[in-house]
Amino acid sequence: MTTVILKPHKEESLKRFHPWVFSGAIARVILDEHHQGDEPQEGELVCVQTITCDVMGVGHWQVGSIAVRILAFGVDKLPKDFWGERIRKAYKMRDSIGLIQPSGNTFRLIHGEGDFLPGLIIDVYADTAVIQAHSVGMHRNRKEIAEAVVANVPQVKNVYYKSDDTLPFKAPIEGEKTGWLIAAHQQESDEFWSLENGLSFRIDWLKGQKTGFFIDQRENRALVERYAKDKDVLNMFCYTGGFSLYALRGGAKTVDSVDVSQKAIDLVNINVAQNFPDARNHKAVTADAFEYLSAQKAEGKTFDLIILDPPAFAKHRDAVKNALRGYQRINAKAIEMIRPGGILFTFSCSQAVDKEAFRLAVFSAAAQVGRKVRILHQLHQPQDHPINIYHPEGEYLKGLVLYVE
Ligand code: SAH
Repeated sequence: MTTVILKPHKEESLKRFHPWVFSGAIARVILDEHHQGDEPQEGELVCVQTITCDVMGVGHWQVGSIAVRILAFGVDKLPKDFWGERIRKAYKMRDSIGLIQPSGNTFRLIHGEGDFLPGLIIDVYADTAVIQAHSVGMHRNRKEIAEAVVANVPQVKNVYYKSDDTLPFKAPIEGEKTGWLIAAHQQESDEFWSLENGLSFRIDWLKGQKTGFFIDQRENRALVERYAKDKDVLNMFCYTGGFSLYALRGGAKTVDSVDVSQKAIDLVNINVAQNFPDARNHKAVTADAFEYLSAQKAEGKTFDLIILDPPAFAKHRDAVKNALRGYQRINAKAIEMIRPGGILFTFSCSQAVDKEAFRLAVFSAAAQVGRKVRILHQLHQPQDHPINIYHPEGEYLKGLVLYVE
């Protein structure tokens, strides 16, 4: 195996179990004897050592500023059944905290660094797991990972792989980036349903966003249900209608769902029809959020409860300033349209925008429109998206529930 030797004292963060080795921390690389070329191949397993040859761990080599992502600390090769052991551990944690329930078969099984598997996401929908690789190393290991999931997660029979949008753009990728890795029964249709807190959702992992669904809002959707009774609810950036279904079950007077994607709106209608076949109080609209809110305001429309769950406005650090302006703008528009005594659920899933910055953007929005606003809840990502305490970069979802006078 190729060995990566660190510069003096550059092992400190690894000793604290932070799993990344930056390229600037590397003194030299000793390629193994089978190697061609003068660099490790992207995705290959390497052993990381200190300058005095103490073994720090084994990880995937990457091209870029993060050169190695450690998979196992303190060993010079991956233990036998490494993938099975990690997947069992992740499943056991979710089971032991009561996440695996008859009323729900939708959960995130592996959340990258939060489950000690940097570069890997696995979401489970009923009997299918959807794997998303964010590194070439995970792409190379995809088949072993799929087998380990089926062997260790009782409900999973099929594994779909979906990494077209997540693998490094320029990396040399061998094999398919998308498709079935394991299909126990021949898939007869592309209609897949999954259950979350007793509500059924059609999941389109073939064409849908991310792995098909935003599992990370499960707990926050349940909170909307508690607040929805007799309210006129507006669910902005609704995707397949997650918050809308909970609001309907909570007894909302009306629910309006808005998304710019026609495919998402088609799924909202399918999901509402499936769960509330008699609902006459739901409306789904395909529209840009900013334009929609402006048009509604011009008509003098107001709501008791608005949900704002936009896509990540900042995908990188250098986009943070613009993103904060975006959050301020959209929140100001929403706060303006809330009836006195109404509620706003507002979120940011941009990892690069931290909680304080987001709160400041919402503060500026409230001040801009001159409404009295109080924070009732501070929300975050759920238990199946755990944050490794040594890897605070894993924190990304934050939300505020506001009472608007
Ligand atoms: N709240 C959803 C997830 C939202 S994801 C849930 O609980 O499942 C963000 C959504 O915003 C995506 O569906 C995307 O299509 C939509 N979107 C992106 N830009 C938009 C825009 N300018 N106006 C309206 N919707 C937009």
